[in-house]
Amino acid sequence: GPVPSFLFALLNMVAVLIIACPCAMGLATPTAIMVGTGKGAENGILIKDAQSLELAHKINAIVFDKTGTLTNGKPEVTDILGENKNEILSLAASLEKSSEHSLAAAIIQRADRDKVKLQKVDKFQSVAGYGVWGLVAGKKVMLGNKRFMKKEGIDISKLGETIEQLEESGKTVMILGVDGKTVGAISVADTVKESSKEGITLLKRMGIEIFMITGDNEKTANAIAKSIGIQNVLAEVLPSQKEEEVRKIQRIGKIVAMVGDGINDAPALAAADIGIAMGTGTDIAIEAADITLINKDLRSVSSAIKLSKKTMRTIRFNLFWAFGYNVVLIPVAMGLLYPFFHVLLNPIFASMAMALSSVSVVANSLTLKKAKI
Ligand code: ADP
Ligand code: MG
Repeated sequence: GPVPSFLFALLNMVAVLIIACPCAMGLATPTAIMVGTGKGAENGILIKDAQSLELAHKINAIVFDKTGTLTNGKPEVTDILGENKNEILSLAASLEKSSEHSLAAAIIQRADRDKVKLQKVDKFQSVAGYGVWGLVAGKKVMLGNKRFMKKEGIDISKLGETIEQLEESGKTVMILGVDGKTVGAISVADTVKESSKEGITLLKRMGIEIFMITGDNEKTANAIAKSIGIQNVLAEVLPSQKEEEVRKIQRIGKIVAMVGDGINDAPALAAADIGIAMGTGTDIAIEAADITLINKDLRSVSSAIKLSKKTMRTIRFNLFWAFGYNVVLIPVAMGLLYPFFHVLLNPIFASMAMALSSVSVVANSLTLKKAKI
């Protein structure tokens, strides 16, 4: 009669509605992202948004800043070249007092240690990527790299060979010019972070192409890159050009991450597909980045990528589970099996199954907590 068939239809409709509710599907991505982000934080990897976590597994090129990222960023003066070493250090430190560069800190520290008297500087100027200059007792004093001296027409040939030797051993040399003449030079050395070499090896093993970028000169940069195992060196890059270098690599079709710490890295961090800032870096770099590594350990870069891979795998598995479950049970709820086996899905069982699918998706997301990264 008409009444049982109405009931039959109603029960089936309710069962279908219960099964078709895409609860588990809605949970699949956010739960995995939540657990993944938490897992990152536990390991000192702060991820700003879900998108970065979802994109990081696609990275196939990484550009590392040198100073403060691959190195500790605390250079120390190693050599002072020239006749009057005290005067050279005094002039250099007097200029660098107004600079915020890590090279400046090294020189000031050495002047402090040697109890060198500082002098008054007028018209101080800092030229990004080149060096600093100012007037001391009416003389134009400048301190910076070879490029800076060349730009100002100062001949450095009398120190040329010594400078090259220092650079080949990974030291950064700053030349002191007074009234257009080379007076001396100061070299500093920065130490490579303990975790740099292993961090880079891990990434290379993942098939990722590694670049080092720096404003430092080519010889020093190559020496340091070689000691870490990096072949691609972008040296003597002006702060304003770092961003363009990242874009160049993107243009050849790479998904690029940039890892940096300084103000001068901020535009490149923003331009990269994923910007990674060192927690020890400047606020501006952290602000521009998508991911911040709280500890200065470079192995965290590969951990972040692994975390992204595992999170994506979890999301895919969740979606498969949630979707597959609907695909199988909706026809059953509709009564597809009824004509053949008299099997119907009771709405009570439908609700239980639905709850179970949500629980299993959440449980699967939680397994991410135990993943090794
Ligand atoms: P990095 O990418 O290594 O931080 P920068 O672009 O800041 O490099 O600087 C590049 C180069 O410019 C330095 O290696 C140094 O030779 C010169 N330079 C920059 N700032 C100073 C400074 N305050 N004093 C002396 N030299 C400087
Ligand atoms: Mg730096």
